[in-house]
Amino acid sequence: MQIIRDIATLHRAIAALKQGGKSVALVPTMGALHDGHLSLVRMGRRVADHVVVSIFINPTQFGPNEDFAAYPRDEARDAALLVEEGVALLWAPDVAVMYPSGHSTHIEVAELGADYCGAARPGHFDGVATVVAKLFNQVRPDIAIFGEKDWQQLAIIRRMARDLDFHLDILGAPIARDPDGLALSSRNAYLSAEQRAAATAFPDALKAAATTIAKGGYVDAALAEAAAAIVAGGFDSVDYVALADADSLERLTVFRRPARLLAAARMGKTRLIDNYPVN
Ligand code: AMP
Repeated sequence: MQIIRDIATLHRAIAALKQGGKSVALVPTMGALHDGHLSLVRMGRRVADHVVVSIFINPTQFGPNEDFAAYPRDEARDAALLVEEGVALLWAPDVAVMYPSGHSTHIEVAELGADYCGAARPGHFDGVATVVAKLFNQVRPDIAIFGEKDWQQLAIIRRMARDLDFHLDILGAPIARDPDGLALSSRNAYLSAEQRAAATAFPDALKAAATTIAKGGYVDAALAEAAAAIVAGGFDSVDYVALADADSLERLTVFRRPARLLAAARMGKTRLIDNYPVN
């Protein structure tokens, strides 16, 4: 696996991978890799000839009081995992390569980025969309793979690719969970053993609400019950628990398909997100 940190070398390496009409799948990440990330890589191996993974902790998607400085970093461990998965190329630019001095152009995500995580994290999705657009232009993949774990992000990137005419396919990969149901996340590493044990209240509450709503229960009541159960389970606060149209992300007060239950909650300094389909 090549580890590349500058744009000129990247362009040469990508051209070499694509020789003979071979396809490239890109899996963008912020590192601290776990099985969720690796499931995206495995999907990439199935759908393309070569997989390129990027590791870039993007400062512009973190708010001033968020965990940019503390975000877990272990490139050597990540690289070893990616070698085992047969990844062709690791794209790991520094901040100065991604944002050379004088960088002044960015993408603004309108209504899809306003609610849910966008309301709690102003500017977050502008930062995500801008860096993902740059990664698409840098790597020029045929396919890019994102996790359904970040449902709003996936919807925003699909829309951005359509709106700005990126010529590639976007694939969503199912959420990888621990056996007790907690979605895998690099941020789970912030939880103490006691917090980690309690955190299972989050997926439990969402799953129960999804079932209630699918069976015809009142949406508002099911959402309120889920929020109460998350706090009763040991979370300090709930940013949102909402029923959304799975594609437009419009808030739903009455169940209609396709719908997705979206949620974010905080335990101590850790903010976790999750989502469930409502079928
Ligand atoms: P991150 O490193 O957190 O930015 O995540 C990189 C990619 O991995 C994103 O597309 C995430 O949605 C995806 N991802 C993170 N955790 C999971 C998970 N538990 N299951 C599936 N995909 C995930």
